[in-house]
Amino acid sequence: MANYIILPFLHYLMSFSEILLNWYYINKRDLPWRSTNNIYFIWVSEIILQQTRVEQGLSYYNKFIKNFPDIFSLANASEENVLKTWQGLGYYTRARNMHAAAKQIVEDHNGIIPASYNEIIKIRGIGKYTAAAILSFGYNLPYPVLDGNVKRVVSRYFAIKNDISLPETEIKLRKKLDALFDKNKPADFNQAIMEFGALYCKPGIPDCTNCIFKEKCKAFTEGKVMEIPFNPSKTKISQRFFYYVIPQCDKTKTTFTYLVKREKKDIWKNMFEFPLIELDHDSTIENFFKSSEFKKIFSGNSVKFISASQVIVHKLSHQLIRARYIHIKIQKEINYPGFIKVLNNEFKNYPVSRLIEKYLKDENLFNL
Ligand code: SF4
Repeated sequence: MANYIILPFLHYLMSFSEILLNWYYINKRDLPWRSTNNIYFIWVSEIILQQTRVEQGLSYYNKFIKNFPDIFSLANASEENVLKTWQGLGYYTRARNMHAAAKQIVEDHNGIIPASYNEIIKIRGIGKYTAAAILSFGYNLPYPVLDGNVKRVVSRYFAIKNDISLPETEIKLRKKLDALFDKNKPADFNQAIMEFGALYCKPGIPDCTNCIFKEKCKAFTEGKVMEIPFNPSKTKISQRFFYYVIPQCDKTKTTFTYLVKREKKDIWKNMFEFPLIELDHDSTIENFFKSSEFKKIFSGNSVKFISASQVIVHKLSHQLIRARYIHIKIQKEINYPGFIKVLNNEFKNYPVSRLIEKYLKDENLFNL
């Protein structure tokens, strides 16, 4: 292992925490939320990093705290502005929850993130993991963090082969982690074990022969690294078929289009998109125009087909979306529930999914 200076035989005399912290102090990445005592910044970083790799999250973190430098500016912002700042990062519930949580903290705690587990856990979007992270990183309180990286390290270290997705396995891992945890250095210990999981004991094939724990790790010494963590119920991926219609109106020389706010309980809630017709199968463009869903919106209007994109495949964690963009010309304006007429030069103010943003950028449309 690179950048590691403790002689292997000394490992027998050292605790898990001592070995880990030695490694961490030499190998840790220099990240802005590690060098601040600002609890608000720490909270923002933790929410961003929940389902995002550090490399991707860093620029969003900087942008977010630039746009909302404190909890009051976040609480007072519009939801559209918050989602716009988050645009492209995915898992938008995190942004909506954080916005609601900021209002809650301002209202109930005078803008100060509580330093008590029982209070912080009541805040919107803060679960057991985030509570432990904020309390340890921000207030140096002794709460061990058990995120995906830590679960992988602990389950391998103790060779725990139980289904990692089950609550009883989590209880077991928590007990094991408690035994390893360094109460005197909660922030450093948590950062260290998460960093070790992210950088070294990775999913797939880690470099065990050079690992700092190679003498102590049960999964390695028993040859079970590839079987752990054990997750037989990996989430099924569902397929969806999105047909976005981009209407241009003849009469107005195409200076506007239509957007619809996604309000249902689904991906990208409260973000905006072109009129969407979702089918349960792939369709030819010809059949798409004949579909009852299309006719329901555009009957009574004269529709002229302009062009259609190729199928664009967009992967989310549990869904695979096959999307097409269909450009049409219509003769008169649409008056349909939920449709918002948006001027082309105002389009950029609306938060849209990465799927739409990327298409428009690639096609050089709407000045994105
Ligand atoms: S020996 Fe391998 S499996 Fe065990 S902690 Fe190290 S990297 Fe992870």
